Amino acid sequence: MDCAPPAHVGHVLILGGTGEARALASTLAEAGIEFISSLAGRVNDPRLPVGPVRIGGFGGSEGLGDWLLRNRIRAVVDATHPFAATITRNAARAAATVGIPLLRLRRDPWMADGADRWTRVPDLPAAAREVAARGGRVFLTTGRQDVGVFASIDSAWFLIRVVDAPTGALPPHHEVLRSRGPYDHDSESRLLRDNDIDILVTKNSGGSLTSAKLLAAAELGIEVIMVDRPAEPDLPVVSDVGAARNWLEALLD
Ligand code: NAP
Repeated sequence: MDCAPPAHVGHVLILGGTGEARALASTLAEAGIEFISSLAGRVNDPRLPVGPVRIGGFGGSEGLGDWLLRNRIRAVVDATHPFAATITRNAARAAATVGIPLLRLRRDPWMADGADRWTRVPDLPAAAREVAARGGRVFLTTGRQDVGVFASIDSAWFLIRVVDAPTGALPPHHEVLRSRGPYDHDSESRLLRDNDIDILVTKNSGGSLTSAKLLAAAELGIEVIMVDRPAEPDLPVVSDVGAARNWLEALLD
């Protein structure tokens, strides 16, 4: 689906689906820089940024490259989630092919400190193996698309927190909790205690919107299975919205 406004929509394409992408849209609107945001269309009722938005895939890196040329885009900011590896790879390939500058806006990862009990794993299947080996009561916060990786685990009970209901296979023992962040420390502590959680499973998304669970887990001595971020193409990277705006202003000047 491409709910696109007509061609020549703006100078900048923001690849979005994150709080940073929405914040960038707001700051570019204030600065009077023309832009359009793009969402994948994964959630039913997405939080929309200000300004024009298109929704749906481009059709791989080739489709994205064509779209950039057709819409006379002068710069791309990839502000997608650190685990949205395919679109980041496609954007790098498309921008290089059509010769359009690309910046990666990516929030910093969370870092463990003294009170944290983290087991770091390279990917979701490794997280599932760690959970299967331990059993117990698991708070699963990796998102709807990744629940299936845990579906064959019979040795654990899962509290599965998702924005939209999962559609694929689910583990035999579970409860689905539908909600959307941001979350605060008190409610996260209560959730962990009320559900007798032994293990928290999360991707290392970074940012403040969903980090309260980490502090709550540390205080309660709960182990965290932390999934490391996937590798990304070698691109210019900034971690804050102001730096992305500066990069665009210098480029478009
Ligand atoms: P992905 O696996 O990297 O991308 C899969 C495909 O979805 C892409 O090849 C592309 O389709 C389309 N796509 C992804 N992001 C798009 C965007 N911003 N605009 C247009 N098309 C997009 O992505 P994902 O992990 O499913 O994430 C989808 C979206 O949700 C991303 O925008 C991301 O920022 C957001 N998000 C992801 C996570 C997460 O944990 N993965 C968490 C929070 C938010 P085509 O090949 O057809 O172009």
